Amino acid sequence: MSVTHRLTAPAPGWTATADVVVVGSGVAGLTVALNVRKAGLRAMVVTKAMLDEGSTRWAQGGIAAALGEGDTPEQHLDDTLVAGAGLCDEEAVRTLVTEGPDAVRRLIATGALFDRAEDGEILLTREGGHHRRRIAHAGGDATGAEISRALVAAVRDDPGIELIEHALVLDLLTDAEGHAAGLTLHVMGEGQRDGVGAVRARAVVLATGGMGQVFSATTNPAVSTGDGVALALRAGAAVTDLEFVQFHPTVLWLGPDAEGQQPLVSEAVRGEGAHLVDADGVRFMVGQHELAELAPRDIVAKAITRRMQEQGAEHMFLDGRHFGAEMWEHRFPTILASCRAHGIDPVTAPIPVAPAAHYASGGVRTDRLGRTSVPGLYACGEVACTGVHGANRLASNSLLEGLVFAERIAADLAERHRAGELPERTVDVAAARAARPVPLPPSEARAEIQRLMSRGAGVLRSAASMAGSAAGLALLAEQAHSHMAEEKPADPRVETWEAANLLLVATALVAAAGQREETRGCHWREDFPERDDAHWRRHLITTLTASGDPVSTPEEQ
Ligand SMILES: Cc1cc2nc3c(=O)[nH]c(=O)nc-3n(C[C@H](O)[C@H](O)[C@H](O)COP(=O)(O)OP(=O)(O)OC[C@H]3O[C@@H](n4cnc5c(N)ncnc54)[C@H](O)[C@@H]3O)c2cc1C
Repeated sequence: MSVTHRLTAPAPGWTATADVVVVGSGVAGLTVALNVRKAGLRAMVVTKAMLDEGSTRWAQGGIAAALGEGDTPEQHLDDTLVAGAGLCDEEAVRTLVTEGPDAVRRLIATGALFDRAEDGEILLTREGGHHRRRIAHAGGDATGAEISRALVAAVRDDPGIELIEHALVLDLLTDAEGHAAGLTLHVMGEGQRDGVGAVRARAVVLATGGMGQVFSATTNPAVSTGDGVALALRAGAAVTDLEFVQFHPTVLWLGPDAEGQQPLVSEAVRGEGAHLVDADGVRFMVGQHELAELAPRDIVAKAITRRMQEQGAEHMFLDGRHFGAEMWEHRFPTILASCRAHGIDPVTAPIPVAPAAHYASGGVRTDRLGRTSVPGLYACGEVACTGVHGANRLASNSLLEGLVFAERIAADLAERHRAGELPERTVDVAAARAARPVPLPPSEARAEIQRLMSRGAGVLRSAASMAGSAAGLALLAEQAHSHMAEEKPADPRVETWEAANLLLVATALVAAAGQREETRGCHWREDFPERDDAHWRRHLITTLTASGDPVSTPEEQ
């Protein structure tokens, strides 16, 4: 298989080499790089902005692992399977929960400082869907920042890891056998590696994070534009479960026109006893689920949305006034500061909250070694779909997934290297040139894509709402094609490449969500309100057609 489509871009003007090139510098990418190095391979990490600019550093609540007394991987597995609503790959979940506790201990050995009790035990909190306290946290509610700090320090300390910041990866390069052989990228900077270039490598690992930026309101940072999923589709890889986007129930509501990254109010706030109430102070989650406010996220997001619709309200409230100032300051300093920065004091007032796009449960399909359907191309972290999340991610399983599967990818690469199965590759230049160039939409398309997606393919979906999104997205694609045909294409640059990636991923997401005629996990269809195991207890696999359109096929049962 070779790359069938590529982003419109100038030909590479420079070349670099590595044994393994890792795209992205969150928990997944940096853990792969550190472990690949231990196996004696030269790693290069290429990242779009600064090293710490992905979702990882924003993670608040923590990392889930059966570390507490009385807790077991089996109980963690049970909770994960329930949240995944019938679509988890049980073996992948078993891998996650059994290898998770030691992976967290190794993260601690790398330098991450978790919160501990006076006796030295790691403090554990609860989050939605977990029947036990099993979420380890750092800096109160700054877990991701601490993990990122520790991993960034470790990679900076390792002279065998080359780091390229401000480098947007465009497309995969393959050899004559269709094996990954490197990638093209655009480096924003000055010097020998400026502009579009190529990195040649024996294997490529995608760790590009999520795609929250396809929606108007999201907890994800600006870099989360689904680039890895779009690249994988253009490279001929299979992508799955795209329709399962988790909307976080409690995102600080900043007004009806707020766009881009919005501050999160972590589930751990509910874990410590904050209540969800409507404008009349009624706790509407009580009686809806045995765990009330700590029900799985999809249930809480749906209940909030339903209540907002019933009452014609733009948001609900999260009431943690009973914590008192001292607990807010010590346990949730980041959230307290971000609420106060927006004029809300959670010590004295309930916090206005509404759901926003938060996590992509689907992504580039991998096996339990992180291998995608393209030989030599691996995917790890939020960009990947290992099967652990099914139709809905259990809270705080994603940092853990990034760690565990990164270690597995590095182990697989090390094993293949030892076995002589990871030779240097020669890029098939003719194949790269033959790939069809994807026309670029103008940079303003980003906001239009986000509006179309939030309006028609958000928390609540129906055939009619998604037809509206699909038509708008198709129009944007048509306009880009006709501008290219008229030789008036948008300039190839970061904003237009990102817009092209967002457009492809949004189109693929809507195609899958339109096809799945049922309600399951975080996919909520108003017109098909029931879960339909007879037809839909299976995955939708998305690939690109020869003309570059995403098509989703139900997996054989
Ligand atoms: C506000 C918030 C709170 C969260 N809280 C938790 C929590 O408490 N517990 C939990 O388990 N999970 C949580 N999550 C989810 C979790 O943080 C992410 O799923 C996880 O950090 C993803 O890690 P990653 O390494 O896959 O990607 P990221 O950390 O997002 O890193 C992706 C990297 O890829 C780079 N990149 C992207 N595209 C390109 C490109 N084209 N070229 C080059 N580089 C590229 C980015 O710049 C970035 O460095 C939270 C997420 C958010 C947004």
